[in-house]
Amino acid sequence: MSETIRVQLNEDEMPRAWYNIAADFSKPMPPPLGRDGKPVTAEMLAPVFPMNLIEQEVSTQRWIPIPDEVRQILYRWRPTPMRRAVGLERALGTPARIYFKDESVSPAGSHKCNTSVAQAYYNREYGIKRMTTETGAGQWGAALAMACKLMGVELRVYMVRVSFDQKPMRKMMMNTWGAECLSSPTNLTQAGRDVLAKWPDTPGSLGIAISEAIEDCVNSKNTRYGLGSVLNHVLLHQTIIGLEAKEQFKKIGRYPDIIIGCAGGGSNFAGIAFPFLADKIAGSKSPRVTAVEPSACPKMTKGVFAYDAGDVAMMTPLLPMYTLGHEYQPAAIHAGGLRYHGMAPLVSHALRQGLIDAVAIPQVECFAAAVQFAETEGLIPAPESSHAIAQAIREAKQAKEEGREKTILFNLSGNGVLDLSGYQAFKDGKLIDHIFDGDDLKKSLSCIKGLPKPPPL
Ligand SMILES: *Cc1c(COP(=O)(O)O)cnc(C)c1O
Repeated sequence: MSETIRVQLNEDEMPRAWYNIAADFSKPMPPPLGRDGKPVTAEMLAPVFPMNLIEQEVSTQRWIPIPDEVRQILYRWRPTPMRRAVGLERALGTPARIYFKDESVSPAGSHKCNTSVAQAYYNREYGIKRMTTETGAGQWGAALAMACKLMGVELRVYMVRVSFDQKPMRKMMMNTWGAECLSSPTNLTQAGRDVLAKWPDTPGSLGIAISEAIEDCVNSKNTRYGLGSVLNHVLLHQTIIGLEAKEQFKKIGRYPDIIIGCAGGGSNFAGIAFPFLADKIAGSKSPRVTAVEPSACPKMTKGVFAYDAGDVAMMTPLLPMYTLGHEYQPAAIHAGGLRYHGMAPLVSHALRQGLIDAVAIPQVECFAAAVQFAETEGLIPAPESSHAIAQAIREAKQAKEEGREKTILFNLSGNGVLDLSGYQAFKDGKLIDHIFDGDDLKKSLSCIKGLPKPPPL
């Protein structure tokens, strides 16, 4: 008997509420702190985010309804398919079943549209006319540009200079959706002018771009800032991925033994993992849940759990998270979306409690996995997603050695059609692995020495 390869849900089976894992943690999360060491209040965040999103950020309500208008837009590409990677299974000769949730089918090509649509909606509902944001490789800028256009909100994107110069395609996508995309640092903000005066030839960085976007936001009328990962409300919006996957497994009468996601700031991993963690916390199921980070930026496997800032200029509150230090400059690996020094507080909290585990994989193994996936499944994954594929392949090979059937689920966070230069470098044998060592850590952590320490679990 043949088995379903593409597990589909109907429109009316799309979830009507997001799942908030903060409701189910048995140990409380340490709060974000201001520079004075005191917990951050909603009022302090108000110049940067609209109050309706701040309410979600601090909410401990288990289910948060997805507004009708947001669902109407998500319907355009959701529910996303869950596919069984039969070609890859065959190539590996594994008894494991490998399923993946395909988030690459969104209009901008990644999972980031799940939160960009919600964020643009809540901003417009709150009366906000204009948003600012930063983007590295351009996935987030593109996703928010699409959402802002659909919601009638203006958008300015500060794009890290090297990417702006090297990746003109995503800038063109943003422009097509009517957003302004600037090469950061600019001379439009004090933060940008300061950097340009000191280092006119700077390649830019996410830290600088965040500082510019926040400064622009707080100095402009009717403007708020949008972030594409890390924060609680962003992870909340991504849980639609895992909620759908659970329904899809129900349809085929299975449940995954292993759940895998790549992790930059933690949002697509949380999206697929948290709805399954609800069962693990309740004690009804015990899947192994693995976050995969690049060896060049191993905050969960080599970093420390500490209070740290989200950006280089320390404009954000201090977040309790696994971090390599906010001044850490990861090597220029091709998975640009995974080059972030910290991990989302919610994911960090789950790791600290042993609900999930983490592994770091070097990029050459990841690109080899991505090419094998493209050759056997047809789809060219984003370099970020290749980390999840590499771990799924490791698990499938282990299942083969042990001669055990296992059900593996991973999240395919995006497609790689605009990131082909990494594939070319891999084919040409030019990719190198950047391995982070103890000396790097000592140096990179010196910037958090004087900051408050989180309480024991
Ligand atoms: C941005 C991005 C990531 C990393 O961000 P998370 O918040 O960790 O999910 C992963 N995959 C793709 C395709 C991305 O665009």
